[in-house]
Amino acid sequence: MIDIDKLTIKDLHQMYNSKQVTVKEVINLFSKRIQEKNSEINAYIEIFTDIDKYIDKAQEMIDTGNANFLTGVPVAIKDNMLYKGHKVSAGSKILEGYIAPYSSPVVEKLLECGSIIMGRTNMDEFAMGSSTETSAYGNTLNPLDNTRVPGGSSGGSAAAVAMGGALLAIGSDTGGSIRQPAAFCGIVGMKPTYGMVSRYGLIAMASSLDQIGPFTKNCIDAEIAFNLISFDESHDSTLIPEKERDQLKKNLGKKIGIPYSFIKEGVDSDISEAFNATVDGLKKTGYEIVDIDLPLTPLSLAVYYILMPAEVSSNLARFDGVRYGNLPSDMQTNSMTDFYKKVRTGLFGREVRRRSILGAFILSHGYYDAYYNKARKLKMAITNEFNNAFKDVDAILLPTTPTTAFKIGERSESPLSMYLADLFTAPANIAGLPAISVPVPGSILPVGIQIITPKGNDEHLFTIGREIEGLI
Ligand code: GLN
Repeated sequence: MIDIDKLTIKDLHQMYNSKQVTVKEVINLFSKRIQEKNSEINAYIEIFTDIDKYIDKAQEMIDTGNANFLTGVPVAIKDNMLYKGHKVSAGSKILEGYIAPYSSPVVEKLLECGSIIMGRTNMDEFAMGSSTETSAYGNTLNPLDNTRVPGGSSGGSAAAVAMGGALLAIGSDTGGSIRQPAAFCGIVGMKPTYGMVSRYGLIAMASSLDQIGPFTKNCIDAEIAFNLISFDESHDSTLIPEKERDQLKKNLGKKIGIPYSFIKEGVDSDISEAFNATVDGLKKTGYEIVDIDLPLTPLSLAVYYILMPAEVSSNLARFDGVRYGNLPSDMQTNSMTDFYKKVRTGLFGREVRRRSILGAFILSHGYYDAYYNKARKLKMAITNEFNNAFKDVDAILLPTTPTTAFKIGERSESPLSMYLADLFTAPANIAGLPAISVPVPGSILPVGIQIITPKGNDEHLFTIGREIEGLI
């Protein structure tokens, strides 16, 4: 019998090819698990009802010897990924009932591979948050402990994999939204190099930082998914062209840098103990560990909370109730200003309004140089700092988060304490670097170990990640 809590994408592929199971049998098992768990966990906000034809297609691919690793694999997609003919709301009331007019290239690729897209997953509204508590569609609970948050903003995607409701979930990561929920839910989450995966058909949060990536149970599965979704295509001009990708490839080895002064303060003992144990384990398997100095990198969080709201205020300006956005049913107005005000205050949640207002302020005439331009300069300086560090080391190791999964409600009233959850994840977005969170056991809850590698060298994340998995 199949144990879906242990099942991996790689194993399932072998089982399909050797005709041990059919796609229908496997998907039925997952559907049953979703039925058992989802009313409590709320990982999915919608279960799609059109999967039968995709099950038949996947079975045919297998039967005719045309299966790839994702054929017949149950996949969850975050509620900000466009899937033609399906609802997509970015966790917001303002897009409630909106139907995607086209599919994103990532979704198209999943379908082409014969994956079964089971449903769309809950998220913080417009991907703003670290706990999935800002969703307009209720909280998602952490499957490992129902009193705790699953992390965010892709909390629903992480919970879907952790509760056995999918083998792969797609998320987006702007400041940590894949890696942090992966860490909180005890699974693997990967943010590719900026420009590796098309952002077309992803509802934008902060376009210069957003990147789509996979959640899986282990690094091999994450690599399988990454390899299939990271292709160049014409709709996203920030994609790195295929031929330039080869030029970025370095011959990387076993020298790892750790910026100890950065992680010295503000880290829970649970995290530092698990982190140090992992480092010791890596040393024993032949890794060379060196202390590195990254004096500007701790400023990434501050830079993020300037650049991100600036882009948010611009990206979300289109949701004004005219082209996009539902109108409140009791709407009565005779001025456009009043109309916008009613739509945007009535249908956006507090965190989205807070960041839109903050972004408009940051970009306003008198403050543009003081905030936005200064943050842009620091972004360049932090990127250079990483590039210099990578002249000497092959990877950088950090904890994914300063704490393990916190309690529901513990931080939702305190934006600054919520923002601190991004302390160690924001740097990779600011510098556009690939990063992965790999779970290791903590004293009570799992701890995420984060690996960062040079731009375009995403595959080295999986090599080191597998070593960390081997230590457990
Ligand atoms: N937690 C971060 C924020 O609130 C990151 C969000 C994200 O990566 N989408 O902005």
